[in-house]
Formats: sequence, structure tokens, C-alpha cells
Amino acid sequence: MKGEASQAMIALTVDVEEGFHGLWPSARRTMVRYKHELPEGTFIRPLRSILKLFEEEHVRSTFFVLGKIAEAFPDVVEEIYDYGHEVASHGYSHVDLTKISLTELEEMERKNYDRLTKITGEVPKGFRAPFFRINPSIISLLSKIGYVYDSSAVPSLGIPGWWSNYGASLCPYRVSVGEREFFEVPVAVFPYLRLPAGGGWFLRNFGVTYVKAAVKWFLRRGLPVILYVHPFDVDPDVPRLGGFRFHVTRRCGEYTLKAMKNLLETFDCPKVPIRDMLEKIMV
Ligand SMILES: [Zn+2]
Repeated sequence: MKGEASQAMIALTVDVEEGFHGLWPSARRTMVRYKHELPEGTFIRPLRSILKLFEEEHVRSTFFVLGKIAEAFPDVVEEIYDYGHEVASHGYSHVDLTKISLTELEEMERKNYDRLTKITGEVPKGFRAPFFRINPSIISLLSKIGYVYDSSAVPSLGIPGWWSNYGASLCPYRVSVGEREFFEVPVAVFPYLRLPAGGGWFLRNFGVTYVKAAVKWFLRRGLPVILYVHPFDVDPDVPRLGGFRFHVTRRCGEYTLKAMKNLLETFDCPKVPIRDMLEKIMV
């Protein structure tokens, strides 16, 4: 890695999907009950609130777009790209990729890679697995397809039904996958307790002060920090369906948009797409 000072930067990334795509297993039965399977476009309005905020704050970032969204709304993906953001992949379908055969996954993800390339005219470099479920075989496949980095590792304590890559580095690192260079770009966690800190859920449920404390730790040490939100995190009209636990939709809307603004304005460091971050910090 290069000099310490150059590494203090934030990537406030966005996972572009509908509100129901990312529901955790506990809420999935509700999703099935409401038959939400295909994108309906409810993510577009809150996505535009994020794009507007990023424009006002002169922020460029990485948008991990779900393949089904890119398929149904290519114009929206183009819109993100035209603002100058990095368009990366969130996988074609919002399912646990570790449960799919590698042959099937390769076919699905190659198509998705080509689709994103066609829409933006540029090959996507980054990938984030749905539910952050990743393994070494999938990493090898991503490299084979042409991706350069993955941002699915959450080096947190193991939380049942949740994610964990406890023991993984807190900062971007090289992964050995044959001859091509490949990087893992972990999402922020609290350094010692190893509690997750980087996601919209934490911003909404634990509050902006919680997330800012983690960000401060990284930046004070001259380290890069990766956060993520979803359009539904800033959607005031997110459906509060019966059967959802209160934390699923808690403070979706204005609170989170203001919290993001607060975060961006508090820290006087570059806010960049992950692609640019890697170019600056990895040699
Ligand atoms: Zn997702």
C-alpha cells in the first residue's frame, strides 16, 4: 500500500435493489406472501434522492446494481453512470450465491456482466454478493469473468443468520486467484468489538453517531472506509408490511438521508468510488 495519508477516504456505496430483494430469511416468508419477485421500480425515487444528495455534496461513489434491476431498468443504470458514478454488479438475482452450482452461476453472471457492459459501455470492475454471501470458488469465478474486486467481506463477529468473515483484514487486500490481480474490499466494522458498522440498517437502527464512531476510527489512522446503503433506506414510502419486524423499515426516509448528509459533511476526506480508491491505495 502507498503512503498512509492518501488512504483516508470514504466509499459510501449503494446496493441498487428493490426493498424486498434484501429481506433477511426471517422476513422472507412475508416476501413470498406478497409475491414480490420482480422489480417494480419503487427503488427509483429514493435512488434519485441519493443521486441528488451526492451531486450536492460533490460525491462520486460505487453503485452495485442488481442484474434484475439492470435488465428491467437499463435507463436508470445509464442515469447512474452519466452522473459519473461507478456501476458495479450486485449479482443477477438476489439469492444466496453459495447455494447455486458454479456452472449455473457462471452462465448467469457472465450474461449479467455483458449486460452491464452494454449499458454503460464500460466493463464493470466490482462485485458485491447478495446477502454478502461469498466463498473462494465464487471469487475465482468472478476473476475469471473479468471482475477486479469483490466487496462482500464483512469482517465482523459471527452473528447467527447474519454474515461473518471474522479474522479478515479491515482494509482492502489482495486475494490470490491465479494470475490476475484481484482485491477484497471489506465493509466497515468496529475494529476491536468487530460489530458490523457499515450498512444502512446500522445507520437507521443504531443511529448516525454509531456509524460515525467507526468511520472516525478508520480515518484517524489514515485508513479507507467502506459503507453501504440501499434506496429503500431513504424511502419515506417504503411499505410497512404486516409481518415485518420493526427494525426492517425503522427510520427509512428522511432520517437516513439526513444521516448520510451529516456523514459526508462531517469528514473532510475524499469520497470516492471503490475503483478509484483501489487505484490510489494499492500498488
Ligand atoms: Zn442486496
